[in-house]
Amino acid sequence: MTDLYIGGTWTKPVAGGQRSILSPADGSLVTTVAEASAADATAAIRAARHAFDRGPWPGTPARERGALLSTVADLVERDRDAFARAESGDTGKRLVESEYDVDDSVACLRYFAGVAGTDAGRVIDTGRPDAISRIVYEPVGVCGLITPWNYPLLQTTWKVAPALAAGNTFVLKPSELTPSTAILLVRALEEAGLPAGVANLVLGAGPEVGAPLAEHPDVDLVSFTGGLATGRRIMAAASATVKRVALELGGKNPNIVFADADFESAVDFALTAVFLHSGQVCSAGARLLVEDSLHDAFVDEVVRRAERIRLGGPFDSDAQAGPLISAAHLAKVEEYVAAGLAEGATLRCGGRRLDGAGHFYPPTVLDDCKQGMRVVREESFGPVLTVERFTGEEEAIRLANDTEYGLAAAVWTQDAGRAQRVAGRLRHGTVWINDYHPYVPQAQWGGFKQSGIGRELGPTGLDEYREIKHVWQNTRPRPQRWFPAN
Ligand code: NAD
Repeated sequence: MTDLYIGGTWTKPVAGGQRSILSPADGSLVTTVAEASAADATAAIRAARHAFDRGPWPGTPARERGALLSTVADLVERDRDAFARAESGDTGKRLVESEYDVDDSVACLRYFAGVAGTDAGRVIDTGRPDAISRIVYEPVGVCGLITPWNYPLLQTTWKVAPALAAGNTFVLKPSELTPSTAILLVRALEEAGLPAGVANLVLGAGPEVGAPLAEHPDVDLVSFTGGLATGRRIMAAASATVKRVALELGGKNPNIVFADADFESAVDFALTAVFLHSGQVCSAGARLLVEDSLHDAFVDEVVRRAERIRLGGPFDSDAQAGPLISAAHLAKVEEYVAAGLAEGATLRCGGRRLDGAGHFYPPTVLDDCKQGMRVVREESFGPVLTVERFTGEEEAIRLANDTEYGLAAAVWTQDAGRAQRVAGRLRHGTVWINDYHPYVPQAQWGGFKQSGIGRELGPTGLDEYREIKHVWQNTRPRPQRWFPAN
């Protein structure tokens, strides 16, 4: 059984809890890990606080912190296969997808390794010969990092790498469903020589182990990736101590296809946009907005191809998509499809869970959808594509922006002017033109509106974990006599 990692030691949970991790593909036992309680979370916070207040890490030169991240990147690369297999075991995602995720995580570690120490702040022109004014960056302190189950390693790395580059200490709480790669990452940090107490790992359920990270006065920042409802709860809890809050929440992302789009590419990507990882992607293109004149031919072809997608377990090399994460999640997806049909959507394919072991739900296309429907407005987070029609740019933009989310959107057209006009008016944090899903660690990622607060990756991804201090020095102090001496 894997224990918790607190203060540089692998530790048994106080209450002795444990949790079985089961494969979403067939229900088999993947691994057994410790299950923490609030007392363990408190102990981890105490260790992180001590390491921040008394330990060497915040004062370690930033370039050295970057060098350690580089070593961690090397270790993850060395153990690529173990990381990928662990990720696929927990999540059920295809091995090849997990391999991509490991490579992306390495790229993220290398990006923050590279930027650490490259920006020492600013010198301000005070307009006075006897005053020096500087802007310097300092770590925020103890960070609570809470991550979801869909991209466990990647989402964890997006937080851990900048947090360490900036000199913070942290308590990491991965999703209770998918802890294995967080455990491997912490082992890599330990092997790379991170001082004790800088990284702490608690495993367990959100309300018991995650909530204390949002509430505890000794945590200075909470960075959360997950669902909107949990995000709201964390923000409310963090307000009691006015913590820094970073939220990466969900999305209900429009994929807009104009009639002049390159048909073959747009169809191909319409499938990848939503059915990649069986729709369990925060930026999934789950709302297809297709121009009226193209609608019939386009949707027919999407449906034809969606019906052929082969589902299978993570180590089945013929599989093209995997299972949903859990029985509860499968039930939620079913509920959204039922709600869509009850509200007037037309089922074009899928719509019925697969028999047998595992949480498999087939690619599902719901045509004739309207903005008011629940399945259009709320995140099903499953392989469910809703189709709406539009005529012209104005209507496309209006429909695309008519959501409380604002994470990502795509526009397909061969008219470069239209592409830029539409991209400029979409209220979403990422806009792809004639593409879907690519991202690079150099570019910021995050949401408008209720898709979140702040940005991960890019220079802002590091800023999230830094305090800004203004240091002013008068080099020739003289009495000012604002108030008379006598
Ligand atoms: P979730 O909100 O249920 O859980 C996320 C994490 O929060 C888990 O570790 C969970 O244990 C923890 N948690 C639950 N309740 C908590 C509480 N009261 N206090 C503190 N922590 C708590 O989300 P999920 O089901 O694991 O993930 C799916 C969601 O994540 C989707 O909505 C998806 O869109 C979102 N997501 C967003 C991004 C992004 O970059 N914006 C990326 C991936 C996933």
